[in-house]
Amino acid sequence: MRIWASIRCDQAARVIGLIALWLVFGLATQAQIPAEWTTALKPFRIADNLYYVGSEGLASYLVVTPKGNILINADLASSPPQIRASVRELGFHWKDTKILLLSQAHYDHAAGAAEVVRETGARLMVMDGDAQLVETGDRHDFGGPGLLPYAPAHVDRVLEDGDQVRLGGVVLTAHRTAGHSRGCTTWTMVARLDGKPEPVVIVGGYAALSSYRLVARPGHPASYPGIAADFAETFRTLRGLPCAIFLGAHGEYFDMDAKLKRMPTEGDRVWIDPAGYRRMIAEGEQAIEKSIAEQERVAGV
Ligand SMILES: [Zn+2]
Repeated sequence: MRIWASIRCDQAARVIGLIALWLVFGLATQAQIPAEWTTALKPFRIADNLYYVGSEGLASYLVVTPKGNILINADLASSPPQIRASVRELGFHWKDTKILLLSQAHYDHAAGAAEVVRETGARLMVMDGDAQLVETGDRHDFGGPGLLPYAPAHVDRVLEDGDQVRLGGVVLTAHRTAGHSRGCTTWTMVARLDGKPEPVVIVGGYAALSSYRLVARPGHPASYPGIAADFAETFRTLRGLPCAIFLGAHGEYFDMDAKLKRMPTEGDRVWIDPAGYRRMIAEGEQAIEKSIAEQERVAGV
């Protein structure tokens, strides 16, 4: 009886332990995934050979070429079936995805990469600094435990700032816009809208998470050496990019919801928004400067 009682006690302790673990990790994990990140959105054409195949909150883009297609962003671990359905709904073949690119190596843009590569055989190309995160499934992100680990994926080509990705006559240029992640990437290309070539900017990310330490103080090093300088360089880079069609890794960067509502009456031209692009840069830079000033105040600098 005593043995039986101790086994039951053991099992009860294990069950309570599992419930506690679920409460701590399960709920925390769920809390980080906003509903719009997993809410399907009808895919649509933005311009020429450039299509939106992401969810309401996580942007994925398909660039179609005669030699196969380029997908930008694989999103969450649960996203690939949704992206695949969107690609098919537009009339394209999922297996024609030849290259996979990312905006950043955080889980909301990269967690589905291993699955996309497995299903399509696409070559994964990631900026130096983020490539290491993707290959290890972002196990030790400087942003802390709020950034969830994911299935690692092999990176076929590590990109440097200014590198070009070419397929079927399309050229995408990778701009290192680091700070949000060390290899955060803003993609540019040219797409025709109403027959006219327009510069496209797909902003990779420009914000500091609340866990980021931009200012070092004794005993508390910066999130990574040079993070503040990276952010400053990022805004310089973004300001220097010609932009007509303004896009980004999240719809909220470029006010996608409002533009989608205007689309039925105004057409594709809603995506032309150089003023919105300038505004995003100015507001993003102000937010970083504010964070730096606040952290300097705390540090007594
Ligand atoms: Zn991120």
